[in-house]
Amino acid sequence: MLAPVRMTRALLVYPEFSPYGFWNYRDVCNLVGAKYPAAPLGLITVAALLPQTWEIRLVDMNTGPLRDADIDWADLVFVGGMLPQQVHFLKLIDRVHARGKRVVAGGPDPSSQPDVYSKADYLVLGEAEDTIIPFLADYEKGIPAGIYHPGPKRPDVDQSPVPRYDLLKFSDYLMIGVQFSRGCPFNCEFCDIIELYGRIPRTKTPEQIVTELDTLYRLGYRGHVDFVDDNFIGHKPRAKAILGVVREWSEKHNFPFYFSTEASINLADGDELLDLMQAADLRYVFVGIESPDEEILKSMQKRQNTNRKLQDDLQRIYDRGIVVNAGFIVGFDNETRPVARSIVETVHEGKICMAMIGLLYALPNTQLTRRLKTEGRLFADRSLIAEGSMGAIDQTTTGLNFVTKRPRGEIIEDLIHVLRKVYHPRSYFDRCLRMGKVLKRKGKYRPTLRKRLTSFKAFLILVGRLGLRPSTGFLFWRNLLALAVRRPGAVEEMTNMMAMYIHFRKQTEYVIELLSGPEPGMDVALLEEIQEVAMDTATG
Ligand code: SF4
Repeated sequence: MLAPVRMTRALLVYPEFSPYGFWNYRDVCNLVGAKYPAAPLGLITVAALLPQTWEIRLVDMNTGPLRDADIDWADLVFVGGMLPQQVHFLKLIDRVHARGKRVVAGGPDPSSQPDVYSKADYLVLGEAEDTIIPFLADYEKGIPAGIYHPGPKRPDVDQSPVPRYDLLKFSDYLMIGVQFSRGCPFNCEFCDIIELYGRIPRTKTPEQIVTELDTLYRLGYRGHVDFVDDNFIGHKPRAKAILGVVREWSEKHNFPFYFSTEASINLADGDELLDLMQAADLRYVFVGIESPDEEILKSMQKRQNTNRKLQDDLQRIYDRGIVVNAGFIVGFDNETRPVARSIVETVHEGKICMAMIGLLYALPNTQLTRRLKTEGRLFADRSLIAEGSMGAIDQTTTGLNFVTKRPRGEIIEDLIHVLRKVYHPRSYFDRCLRMGKVLKRKGKYRPTLRKRLTSFKAFLILVGRLGLRPSTGFLFWRNLLALAVRRPGAVEEMTNMMAMYIHFRKQTEYVIELLSGPEPGMDVALLEEIQEVAMDTATG
């Protein structure tokens, strides 16, 4: 770190996500008094990389407003974000400029498409460990603007500082993130993670993870910790080692935390990894299933999902008490109509309660985008994708920003069909019950008395929101009674999943309206017209 860098008041701002995004389950957060699911880990990592003599404040616009006075206080405003935050991010740059302050922009979306953020004064691209130092050097010299590109070698995360968890108000969030690794060894064609972070997983050391857990514990945090890695098991031997360390740490501290993460489906290959996850009290895993069709999986280069018995894999994960949430995508090139029925069957048979189902989106700077561009099929007009066609950018509402192989309207009809089936109350509550019946949870987490009281209060609110409603009341009580008799240890988890229905009911309605309504939803006729023109242009 450079020293000295002139004293600065730095305001870190995290822009809003779409109000009905798949991951924006505020209604469920509200049940336990929280405001948003996850804390802005990237920004608090940046905060730890800034000179610690600076005054630093954080405003997460997902949990509270940004006041003009906050901007006026600051010398520099740092904004970080992802693609779903782009619209708000850009508005925020204008707002900060209107108050005469300079903006430092960074994070995954500015790194993927810096030209979109050209209005920012400083663009700190790639991983902050790499580019924050040249930015600080210029800032120290009084240089008023600059673009800082990452070097050829990705930074070692074993040098990353402990994020500034002290800047967070823990009660605003349902979970707090810890990052163990960056990068993924696989090669899915649509994925931007491997472009941003590479295919060689880089991991933190056991000592770093212990220090981060210690820090959270010392600051008084208890409850859900999410390993935010895009693929926690990208380097399996190190993932196993870290799980052992986490279990030891938890035992020593009487299990104040439980964990979740995201991983590829090969986590179900062999017992050792799953056993270690269970021993560490890892309770949720998000898995990208994408498609039930082997040929489609091969064409998207997701070979790790092929040649396996998916339902057996899922059962092996449930056997360790781990709930599986999964992602599915429609809109791949060689898809045919039956794909909709197969997705519904896979979700149902797999007892997957939380299924994120969306349209294929050619993200900036991916193999898919490069291929579609070569084939002359990529839409050039990004604003059409961002606002005109879909209203808001989100994994479940944005996509098909290219000339599709089968009719666009048919793909959208299929998505709507899948959403209606999967999030029909009977289908959803049936899955919750069936998942509860097979989930062999041996939870070790010891909630505090305060947490227990909060959970009890949340249950009472849930009774009003689901148990006394005509559409869900019968299913809610049927599930509770059935599981209380058959598998009482799984009642709490099933109740958590049922609570998520408060969000999914609204989110599904929103997505379907957006996709099928004339305004402001996708204008299918217009897009088909664009598709035809694009095709004509492509074929010369
Ligand atoms: S497994 Fe996940 S993180 Fe890895 S390349 Fe595929 S989509 Fe990306």
